[in-house]
Amino acid sequence: MFFENVDFSALDLPPAALRLREEVRAFLKAEVAAGSFTPHLGHSEFDAEFTRRVAARGWIGMPWPRRYGGQERSYLERFVVTEEMLAVAAPCAAHWFGDRQIGPSLLRHGSDALKARFLPAIARGECAFALGMSEPGSGSDLASVRTRAVRVEGGWRVTGQKVWTSWAHKAHAFLVLCRTSADTGNRHEGLSQLIVELQSSGVTVRPIRFMDGRQSFNEVFLDDVLVSDDMVVGEIGQGWKQVTSELALERSGPERYMTTFPLLVELIGRLGTAPDARAQEMVGKLTARFWALRRMSLAIALALEPGTDSEGGATLAGVDLGTEAALVKDMGTFYEREIIDAARLLVELEPTAAALDRFERYLAETIVCAPISTLRGGTTQVLRTLIARRLLGRLK
Ligand SMILES: Cc1cc2nc3c(=O)[nH]c(=O)nc-3n(C[C@H](O)[C@H](O)[C@H](O)COP(=O)(O)OP(=O)(O)OC[C@H]3O[C@@H](n4cnc5c(N)ncnc54)[C@H](O)[C@@H]3O)c2cc1C
Repeated sequence: MFFENVDFSALDLPPAALRLREEVRAFLKAEVAAGSFTPHLGHSEFDAEFTRRVAARGWIGMPWPRRYGGQERSYLERFVVTEEMLAVAAPCAAHWFGDRQIGPSLLRHGSDALKARFLPAIARGECAFALGMSEPGSGSDLASVRTRAVRVEGGWRVTGQKVWTSWAHKAHAFLVLCRTSADTGNRHEGLSQLIVELQSSGVTVRPIRFMDGRQSFNEVFLDDVLVSDDMVVGEIGQGWKQVTSELALERSGPERYMTTFPLLVELIGRLGTAPDARAQEMVGKLTARFWALRRMSLAIALALEPGTDSEGGATLAGVDLGTEAALVKDMGTFYEREIIDAARLLVELEPTAAALDRFERYLAETIVCAPISTLRGGTTQVLRTLIARRLLGRLK
């Protein structure tokens, strides 16, 4: 990254992670030099070929056990790879859901057959996953999902509608949260997680486009889709507990504060060597906040270091980092917007997404996508409620 002359060595990464960082930088430098992808800001693009090249380096599923295609490396090393990918806006959507959420979830709750089938394929960059949680009317209030699975011989028949399903039009499968038993009065009971292959009969994927025409979102309609018993993740009825245990993974990484970072780098380049006092103050403030957020996110990556289960397989450390992750996401997503605000205030132009100038294009893309960061992975209000509850609980 560009803070080469800032020294926080007392907080620095272990030697293995530092060596890895150099490898990842060299790889990305060669990719950028070859023009193998066009960086876009706002949301990471889906590029199956790029994902396969990342997989060939062993950088997908890094902390997973070797017998499931992983490298048994640390979460800190995974952090390093993620950070470098974000610093150049590399297209990682074809593997990030599998790498960050589905893999750990299968390791924790999946059957041996599911682990053997999906984890090595994700790690090879050959199987892309999407997440099927949100529904019309069920976003923050996820426990109200209405997609229903009805028991049939050998499996389940699933009917319902999912929405905002990122990259479902390109992924192979998605993890669906659905109701598998009648209402008991407790909405957190009777939910389960099933893997549904997106090519299955009865699945329809329809695009929802951004203002600028780009597509990452979809609606997914499930019409009596047959899902066999071996595609159930974890225990029937335990879906709520399983889904909430994954949220720390979704909310705590550099993805939550670095999606507009390349714009900051371009802004600093634009300001040149003699920025005025206002520019100095803004860039200084953004840099200081970046280091604080990075430290918080690193602390969570450290705490996530896997332990070992009774069969010798890696599991996530059994710690509840929900509040810490909510803090990173809440502060991080506002930080991302402050970079956009600073760029708009300090450089006067009317940006267009078709511009050849990188600063201008990044600014145009981030303005269009600005509203998404405080929604995806949990809205600001919901995160702050969660943080306040923990704090108020302690004060009692
Ligand atoms: C870029 C992006 C990618 C996404 N990708 C996926 C995906 O791949 N898969 C998937 O399943 N979902 C995905 N989502 C959906 C995302 O999880 C939801 O948008 C999010 O959970 C919020 O739900 P909602 O949009 O229904 O808003 P709502 O929950 O309806 O919230 C609307 C407003 O009401 C507020 N609010 C709601 N409840 C409360 C409360 N209890 N207290 C105070 N305020 C409240 C919210 O903070 C918000 O401001 C994605 C969203 C975005 C923006």
